[in-house]
Amino acid sequence: MKKILIIALAAAVVLCAAVFFAGRAGLFEKKPYPENDLICIDAGHGGNDPGAIKGGRYEKDDNLRLALLVASCLEDAGKKVVLTRDGDFFVGLSDRCDIANKEGAALFISFHRNSASDESVSGVEVWAPSNAGKLSLDMSERILKALSSVGISVDRGVKKGTAANPFSDYVVNRGTKMPSCLIEMGFITSDADNALFDENADAYAKAVADAVISLYPKGK
Ligand SMILES: [Zn+2]
Repeated sequence: MKKILIIALAAAVVLCAAVFFAGRAGLFEKKPYPENDLICIDAGHGGNDPGAIKGGRYEKDDNLRLALLVASCLEDAGKKVVLTRDGDFFVGLSDRCDIANKEGAALFISFHRNSASDESVSGVEVWAPSNAGKLSLDMSERILKALSSVGISVDRGVKKGTAANPFSDYVVNRGTKMPSCLIEMGFITSDADNALFDENADAYAKAVADAVISLYPKGK
């Protein structure tokens, strides 16, 4: 009797360990792909909030340009898109989250451009939420890989949290209920990155859209 109890206990321990590790590996994730065809595209800043500035160049304009291009690539591929702004006007950070949440978007992608006091600093990075699930990370990695294959100055990697603190989050990553990421599409303070942005805007947009579409099961 005692022997049976020990065997049963050992089996329970093995089962618990298996469930724990399978859970960690994401095997029990309900849906490791987007839940519907609606994607929220967020052009950072706008209106009286220009974002980062270099001479007469405003981050808000670059963000909108790329966001609109990505939106049209996604729509061409049969996806539905909700834009947090489609023109040069101000939208608050929590309002951007509300738009995505109320519309029930399956994915949220925010477009920004970086800045640094040192003009030699360049490159593209993607920010995932600090508690990013498998899909946020997968999306971030696929997007960065796709952008790299078009050509970027430096691959600065997929990062979690914020530049200030890996345990905090950018508002749009924290406030959105769906998998999300924030792309820093090169440094507006870098002439090299601006040249790449202008030269490759269409190709970057197509790369981001293709990366997002690749998250869906084949044929959907
Ligand atoms: Zn920004």
